[in-house]
Amino acid sequence: MTDVNKVDFNKSGGLVPVIVQDNKTMRVLMLGYMNKEALEQTLKTKKITFFSRSKNRLWIKGETSGNFLTLESISQDCDNDALLARATPLGPVCHTGETSCFGDGSANSLAWLSKLEDVIEKRKKADPKESYTAKLFERGIERIAQKVGEEGLETALAAVAPAKAAELPGEAADLIFHLLVLLNAKGLNLADICQVLEQRHK
Ligand code: AMP
Ligand code: ZN
Ligand code: ZN
Ligand code: ZN
Repeated sequence: MTDVNKVDFNKSGGLVPVIVQDNKTMRVLMLGYMNKEALEQTLKTKKITFFSRSKNRLWIKGETSGNFLTLESISQDCDNDALLARATPLGPVCHTGETSCFGDGSANSLAWLSKLEDVIEKRKKADPKESYTAKLFERGIERIAQKVGEEGLETALAAVAPAKAAELPGEAADLIFHLLVLLNAKGLNLADICQVLEQRHK
């Protein structure tokens, strides 16, 4: 966490630019400005609070929309005149309803896999009559394991059978989805698997 007294607020009239990044996907969500008071309030309340240049007052992001940014960490740059805040957004960050003020260009489709894990965790608790995911969990690990096997085979077939070539992306998506369900059911997640993969390169 940043030490308020180390931040150089004097360089640009009492304000420092703050890049806000999604703590999970690392996607850049928005840019705002903080004065010393805004930074102190942010650290104290864990709700990202800017100094709004248009409102000319402290602005708790989400104060009217409810889409607060819960602070996870904040650090300063090499010369202490800019901040990087990592946050968990409680809803779309942009007033247009978009996830990020910087649009789709700021998205990383690989990082979306980690969002998919959250979706699976949520759908797990849904009504099995309405959710395929909940139904899979209800039927249990053997059914889930069977689906991983089936989708693995379908992916392999799509890769070698010329008539099925167009189905490869969809089958690979099915495989990854069911694999994430299986990992969840076994108390594991993608980060655990990435750790194993990374370890092999050390
Ligand atoms: P909010 O802080 O989300 O309750 O939004 C309050 C007001 O702040 C909105 O009506 C917009 O005018 C403005 N606003 C909200 N989000 C942003 C943003 N990401 N960047 C710039 N202005 C924003
Ligand atoms: Zn700097
Ligand atoms: Zn915006
Ligand atoms: Zn399939």
